[in-house]
Amino acid sequence: MKKYFYSLFLFLIVLQFSTLSYGQTTQKERLEKHVYYMAADSLKGRKAGSKEAQKVAEYISNQFSTIGLETILDKFDFPIITLSSDGPYQNVIGVWEGSDSILKRELIVIGAHYDHLGTKLKKEEEIVYNGADDNASGTAALIELARNLVQQKELTKRTLVFVAFDAEEIGLQGSKFFINYVKAVKPVHKMVLMINFDMVGYLKQSGKLKIAGVGTVQNYLTYFNAVSFPESYRLVLKKKDHSILTGSDHDSFLAEQIPAFYVTTGLKSPYHKPEDDAHLIDYDGLSIIVDYFTELVPLFANDTHLKPSDGLKKTSFHDKKSYFGLTAGIGNMRYNYRYGTVDGKKGTALQLGLYGKVSLSNSFALKGEAAYSYTNRYRKEGIIQTHEVTFPVVLLLKSTYENWIEMSMGAGGYYSHFFHLREKNFDPIVKQYYPYEVGWILDFEMRVSRMIYGLQYRYGLNEMIVAPQEEDMARSRMFQFKIGFVF
Ligand SMILES: [Zn+2]
Repeated sequence: MKKYFYSLFLFLIVLQFSTLSYGQTTQKERLEKHVYYMAADSLKGRKAGSKEAQKVAEYISNQFSTIGLETILDKFDFPIITLSSDGPYQNVIGVWEGSDSILKRELIVIGAHYDHLGTKLKKEEEIVYNGADDNASGTAALIELARNLVQQKELTKRTLVFVAFDAEEIGLQGSKFFINYVKAVKPVHKMVLMINFDMVGYLKQSGKLKIAGVGTVQNYLTYFNAVSFPESYRLVLKKKDHSILTGSDHDSFLAEQIPAFYVTTGLKSPYHKPEDDAHLIDYDGLSIIVDYFTELVPLFANDTHLKPSDGLKKTSFHDKKSYFGLTAGIGNMRYNYRYGTVDGKKGTALQLGLYGKVSLSNSFALKGEAAYSYTNRYRKEGIIQTHEVTFPVVLLLKSTYENWIEMSMGAGGYYSHFFHLREKNFDPIVKQYYPYEVGWILDFEMRVSRMIYGLQYRYGLNEMIVAPQEEDMARSRMFQFKIGFVF
């Protein structure tokens, strides 16, 4: 009996010791474990749709359930084009329901994308893009932040939704899908704030943590002033996110007028290079960031006054469906005679106009302008200078890249009214003129953020001189390079 008692006692000590040692895994060690796992060569760069990315999704899902979150693996088919046949793509969602009977319908989405670039062949050698900073770091922070928030004694009033996004690197597809998914599955729920961790593993190297887009929330300083960040680092709060080079999942939320923060230590890491490896990550820094948000998130999740700012619409410029702006064009105009051998010379054509472009669908847009034009028309009878008001309308086929580059081309027509016309070297004045010109247009345009670059070809369909002799019949052609600014 004594022997049994003794072994039971030993067993209890061992049990105690083992639970203690498990409990003693530090946050930093867990962060390291996650990053080393996700950024291992064997996971081949976690390319969206690959079986390695699916393995990572299962890893995150297991972490979420261990923490105590209700998890959803939300598989989705690529909505536009399939780049890889071995999908499916999947977001991993962990839900921690809020305690307030009303506010729990408001969701605070905390996200990080886990996919990366995969592998590339260079000189018949497979090079793995491990993506430790981009974005195993953010995903690890997401898991540990979830653990901390769930283990806090008090539940938050609002519901916390932790999402590891897939398919970010191929056009923010994971976050776009998630937003539509929530709207469809939980129509009474409302996303009130999104916090996106993307590349947060270089705090020491960059010396600062940047949170961009804080101005999308009203009175944002009341939250940020309530929590301190270690003084050895700078906390940089940017009201708006201006970084067009590093578009990430928060952009999808801003496009839906949902306040969103972009959290990053910047581009100090070997960005989109094979050297972005786990041993380069600053795990102490990563842990500091997790601690900071562990204190910060409940402030947003519990405050009954949380509201989007009035300026929110302005921050989502890149996802606007319509643009207005100013354009200027410079080019030349010449006449092509239909009969006879004489050809017109090239004369200058200038244009200054108001510009408007409205999206009709994902692929089509309608563009209109109201412009002042000045042309020098070299006819064989002499030179005619015109001042015109021109109204071109063009139907465009468009394609956008990462929301900030848009290419479009199309065709349309124009009407131009000559409000002033002057003849030079006409001797004697024998002709009469139509006061207008109509014709068709070929148009090519590229928008890079707010700048417009375009080429336009105009072909006149009516003869400008009333009742010309047959050998005088000529129609204008104009070619212009355009530049513009939209807002
Ligand atoms: Zn990223």
